[in-house]
Amino acid sequence: MKIIIHGGFFSESQTNQEVKHAKQQALKDIVQAGYKYLLSHTALETVVYTVCLLEDCDLFNAGTGSQIQSDGKIRLSASLMDGKTQKFSGVINIEDVKNPICIAEKLMAYDDRVLSGKGAKEFATNNGVAYYNPEIPQRRREYEQKLSDSIRLGTVGCVALDVYGNLAAATSTGGKGFEIPGRVSDSATTAGNYANGFAGISCTGVGEDIVSGSVATKIVTRVTDGMPLSAASDKTLDELKPFDGFAGIIGISADGNFYHADTHPYMVWASCDGEVEVFD
Ligand code: ASP
Repeated sequence: MKIIIHGGFFSESQTNQEVKHAKQQALKDIVQAGYKYLLSHTALETVVYTVCLLEDCDLFNAGTGSQIQSDGKIRLSASLMDGKTQKFSGVINIEDVKNPICIAEKLMAYDDRVLSGKGAKEFATNNGVAYYNPEIPQRRREYEQKLSDSIRLGTVGCVALDVYGNLAAATSTGGKGFEIPGRVSDSATTAGNYANGFAGISCTGVGEDIVSGSVATKIVTRVTDGMPLSAASDKTLDELKPFDGFAGIIGISADGNFYHADTHPYMVWASCDGEVEVFD
């Protein structure tokens, strides 16, 4: 059993030791809680549980504490992929909910599994999801100071391998910050979140670059075709170089290997297979 999580990029505007230590501690605590959960739950249940914890932690740009878009609203995107059934579900740009990953989880049972905007919100309300404002004062201050040049990439993600050998991936984001309303993040696409019986990948970084490089899908396909996870990830991230693509990935392969990599300094992550490791 293995679990790996990320909390997006540690942006240059935040390079103070206090924030770094807070993120290290939060990721450590959450990966440990996720691993404990994995001992008695499936990979799919575990990635939802763990991403919920990440969404609830306001140090990260997902759920509570998400970025505010250019029109002053927060819109959340999240997706879930079950490597066992090969089903993908997600919500794109949903407003006023606490845990978008839980709505992606509910959608797994439906034929229409990726919903956006109003339709996603209506689905959530009809399924008993309460109104919740994910804004925190710090994000409003940043928005009001129009810090659009300091994109804070703090999306969250989780990949888990359970006791049955099944993989699952989940990713959740508040987006890039200051984006045009209607902009679609990679996080609720198969470029940003993908898994099958061979590997699971969750991405963070600039969504447009991740979609252009079809990052998660390519890595998983390469592993499926026999490439080791590390080589598949490195090759895929190398292919972003011609356009200076900005991306980070976490992954687990069915043979039990962890991998994390990024194109720019630096993604924050933690893993656990009994032993906890955290970014430095
Ligand atoms: N990938 C996310 C997006 O472009 C941002 C992030 O990873 O922090 O919406």
